[in-house]
Amino acid sequence: MNYYSLHHKSPKTTFKNAVVEGLAKDRGIYFPENITPLSKDFIENIENYSNNEIAYEAIKQFVGNEIPTEKLKDIIANTLSFDFPVVSVSENIGSLELFHGPTMAFKDVGAKFMAQCLEYFNQGNKEEVTVLVATSGDTGGAVANGFLGAKGINVVILYPSGKVSDIQEKQLTTLGQNITALEVDGVFDDCQDMVKTAFLDEEITKTLTSANSINVARWLPQMFYFFFAYKQLKKLNKEIVFSVPSGNFGNICAGIMAQKLGLPVKHFVASTNVNDTVPNFLKDGIYTPKKSKATISNAMDVGNPSNFIRIRELFNNDLETLKSTFSSFSFSDDATRVKMKEIYKNSGYVADPHGAVGYLGLEEYNLNENEYGVFLETAHPVKFLDVVEETLPVTVAIPPQIQKVIDNKKVAIKASSYEDLKAFLLKE
Ligand SMILES: *Cc1c(COP(=O)(O)O)cnc(C)c1O
Repeated sequence: MNYYSLHHKSPKTTFKNAVVEGLAKDRGIYFPENITPLSKDFIENIENYSNNEIAYEAIKQFVGNEIPTEKLKDIIANTLSFDFPVVSVSENIGSLELFHGPTMAFKDVGAKFMAQCLEYFNQGNKEEVTVLVATSGDTGGAVANGFLGAKGINVVILYPSGKVSDIQEKQLTTLGQNITALEVDGVFDDCQDMVKTAFLDEEITKTLTSANSINVARWLPQMFYFFFAYKQLKKLNKEIVFSVPSGNFGNICAGIMAQKLGLPVKHFVASTNVNDTVPNFLKDGIYTPKKSKATISNAMDVGNPSNFIRIRELFNNDLETLKSTFSSFSFSDDATRVKMKEIYKNSGYVADPHGAVGYLGLEEYNLNENEYGVFLETAHPVKFLDVVEETLPVTVAIPPQIQKVIDNKKVAIKASSYEDLKAFLLKE
């Protein structure tokens, strides 16, 4: 499969190069040249396929012959080692729980998939690849875990000091081996800008790639969730509306890719916190990136969502067509807390702040009786322990995979500007 840059200045490239480069030379992100719908027969009989088989069907055209079939199947099996249940929360709303993986965030799937692709593509090369990743919270932990021990790959994670939760910080600063954490004096966008600058810096000669959702190998496997949800809900015979708590808009964009592959989805709601660049764009057609604001759903504190350009591409940059399948609403922290309380009171379900924003999006959309709403529960409540325990009368039990890292010692290098990152990369 070939990929083109959305800035249309760099030449087309292979899946392999798109994964290894991350971002095209013209700074555009990559997009697949073709999207061929899956057979109707497959979609109609989806409940007869295992998750691994579904994932293979969904992704194989985007990998092409660049990874042998058996290897790709292995990569998928290693990636999907946990469940993706839809849990009923109210009569017509379910929570698609994406947090049963090793770091309890949905990003585990993309990170693990990408790590294995990159390791495969880099085998036999003498030179190591450096993965640079900016995180607003959950990416760091998922990437650290997914890439831990990957041969020939060093990982450098940049995170905004004081703006990720204690557990998130532990997950990305305690693993050691091929993982290094840089604690940046700034917000997420500063981290993201530093990563982007490094990619353009000709004095840095080592091979750099990104493990943010701009990387096609991190972004595309997120399609799987939407198929897994549909597989579970098909028997309800309702039209499905997905509400995706969105920050960089990679997850929801993957959902729209699944729809393009033929998955029956009625509508997508991109639910955001007060970082409302996309909701505003849908209102007035003007895309105005902003500096991100800190919220209680910090994994979505993004002022200039990097994947939104892919969503526009999927709709040929036509705002009206986009709006016919896609809405986006923004919610305050206060509204989020009120909703967390209400969900808990009515159903006993403990939603994390991101999930609650997703729930709010479904309410704003206003489901009709033929529709079933699914909000993506993108992180386990324990990842946002302070907010959850402050807001709800609950004590969240610490699951074993979290307990394991909590007692480990944080190791991070302080960075206050791009020069610090550069110095680190040059001496490493
Ligand atoms: C990353 C993340 C999001 C946002 O996902 P995008 O693909 O960047 O839109 C939402 N919730 C949680 C918990 C996350 O970690």
